[in-house]
Amino acid sequence: MRAVIFEEFGADLEVREVPSPEPSPGGAVIRVEATGLCRSDWHGWQGHDADIRTLPHVPGHELAGVVESVGTGVGSWRAGDRVTVPFVCACGSCAACVSGNQQVCERQTQPGFTHWGSFAEYVAIDNADTNLVALPEEMTFTTAASLGCRFATAFRAVTAVGRIQPDEWVAVHGCGGVGLSAVMIAAAAGARVIAVDVSPQALELARRFGAVACVTAAAPPETAPGFPAPETAFGSVPPGTPGTDGDGADVATRIRDLTSGGAHVSIDALGAPGTCVSSIESLRRRGRHVQIGLLPGLTALPMNRVIGYELELLGSHGMAAHAYPAMLKAVLDGELRPDLLLTRSIGLDEAGPALAAIGSVPGVTMILPTR
Ligand SMILES: [Zn+2]
Ligand SMILES: [Zn+2]
Repeated sequence: MRAVIFEEFGADLEVREVPSPEPSPGGAVIRVEATGLCRSDWHGWQGHDADIRTLPHVPGHELAGVVESVGTGVGSWRAGDRVTVPFVCACGSCAACVSGNQQVCERQTQPGFTHWGSFAEYVAIDNADTNLVALPEEMTFTTAASLGCRFATAFRAVTAVGRIQPDEWVAVHGCGGVGLSAVMIAAAAGARVIAVDVSPQALELARRFGAVACVTAAAPPETAPGFPAPETAFGSVPPGTPGTDGDGADVATRIRDLTSGGAHVSIDALGAPGTCVSSIESLRRRGRHVQIGLLPGLTALPMNRVIGYELELLGSHGMAAHAYPAMLKAVLDGELRPDLLLTRSIGLDEAGPALAAIGSVPGVTMILPTR
């Protein structure tokens, strides 16, 4: 099969002929029809992800396609089934899985990280009975793949983790792919959403996706050394870009003013120390902070406020396969429109250069390996 492969971290991404995978006894091989290009793939290629232990490696974890073959122990799936998978694939039998929380499985695998991923014509997925999700016939592969890690993660963060209720104030810090997804999902749930970003174009999209108010952050937050500048809907913002904030007040103060005391739920969809702190400080008493953006290492947090206000600090990590049907239904009903986040489709040959230039094109890029 053809696959996008790298020999060393940060080295050339080439399209090469490699052996096609075989299914494990409980696993399946999926013919990849669409696979999303995600910032996590960029981190993996750069060597930031400890799950990648052997080289060469094939990235890719946001996929949809058709089952090509299954292992002898698979009961629920057969060749020809249209499917997608969560980016966290679960073992199905550890304590977390037995409790229904496959998204934090103790023995999880992640295509594109723990093994070769979906920037290829075929990808192998373990424990197919636990991890495969059937696609409704009407749903295209590109829409299904765009649920990827970002949309599904935002869905769980807003609904199950953030427990957002109608009319609650929700602040979303960072309006790249995952942030815009969170805006759309929270607005569809009836929340009053405030979007925060440095980019006026990103905020314009947030408004289109249902934000009732927007706050322009004065400057992009600091990212960790070696990490790229924050992603916005219209590409990376160079560090030091002056903001357009007129009154000089910080983001948290503006949100507390807009909401008469603070948001009920605040989401750091970017993953930077400054955004995380700002999100916590945006909350009213007993509010919930949800961290979706990846934050490397330790972050100093205003714990005095966490205690005094009785705030909840919550992490959110993907979404289990069994939780997909509610999201798929909302997409089919037109309540949620992940397809609006898609801005371009490319072939496998263009995937390497596109990954190297991640953040330079707005929205979500879809790779079509069979094109
Ligand atoms: Zn498990
Ligand atoms: Zn992803």
